[in-house]
Amino acid sequence: MKAEIVNGWPQGNSIRILLTETSTAQVNSVRRALIADVPKLAITRVDFAQGINQDNATGDVYESVNTLPDEVIAHRLAMIPIPTHPAEGIVFPEDCVNCKDMIEKDKGCPSCQILYSLKIQGNPKDSDDELKYVYASDLSVISDPMFGLKEEHQRIPITLLSKGQYLQFYAFATLGRGRDHAKWSPVAAVAFRPQMKAILNKPKKAKVLFDLDLKTTDGKAIDAKLFGKDKTISDINIVFDLEKAIHQVGAGTGRDAAFDDAITFEKVEDAFVFTFETDGALTPVQAFNGAMQELKGRFENLSTDIEKAIA
Ligand SMILES: [Zn+2]
Repeated sequence: MKAEIVNGWPQGNSIRILLTETSTAQVNSVRRALIADVPKLAITRVDFAQGINQDNATGDVYESVNTLPDEVIAHRLAMIPIPTHPAEGIVFPEDCVNCKDMIEKDKGCPSCQILYSLKIQGNPKDSDDELKYVYASDLSVISDPMFGLKEEHQRIPITLLSKGQYLQFYAFATLGRGRDHAKWSPVAAVAFRPQMKAILNKPKKAKVLFDLDLKTTDGKAIDAKLFGKDKTISDINIVFDLEKAIHQVGAGTGRDAAFDDAITFEKVEDAFVFTFETDGALTPVQAFNGAMQELKGRFENLSTDIEKAIA
């Protein structure tokens, strides 16, 4: 299997990758590895402070009661993407040399866990605002600052505090895999389809589409010129745009008879366009490389298992 990033990608957390010399089964195993096997950091334990605090300056009393139950807050924290930095050597808690022989409650050290804290209280009694929003940006990282949340995740809301309420906790993130919990799955919308070429069969009838003045994502007009001299388009991004555009002249539009399959799509053998996005904990390239690593490890294990079984 060969992998090549499609021109102009990744865009933000999304990517298109062209996979060639491969089969549906192989590409699907990459898809499954991305969803279930690529390790990612996520908050997995939260220690909430409980009790009553008094503000020494104002005399206001704050209580650790909340709109949302602790379990729901812990779940919301778990879903916040934690920057994972695969090259930094963070290990799974069960593989950590410092912690693996410890009892459950003592587990956790700088090699296998990232620590965050949050301490925030509701608005003062005399404030006009009844409610205060708690955002992901209120989390502070106690471990290495490189694990601080990314700008794009700062505005994720966690909960609301009324006057007289406070929220205080320590949160612990560890590496995990999507197969154990969705919070550890680094990707969304993982899909693939055969690579296609678009062929202009009937330039005159294709005018039904061209006259709609549609544009490709990068702003080129969808017209006969786009197809060039050989009346074929192989550019993956443009073919994606054309596949969308063709719905305007498809069944149920009243234009399909006049269009009469003027443009058709032809499969490229053993080639697939693979698309997905990450939640931002990993870049799309890191996630894809992670999936390759996981698959490689698995097949190496498989081959030694087979050798053992045969010997
Ligand atoms: Zn450890």
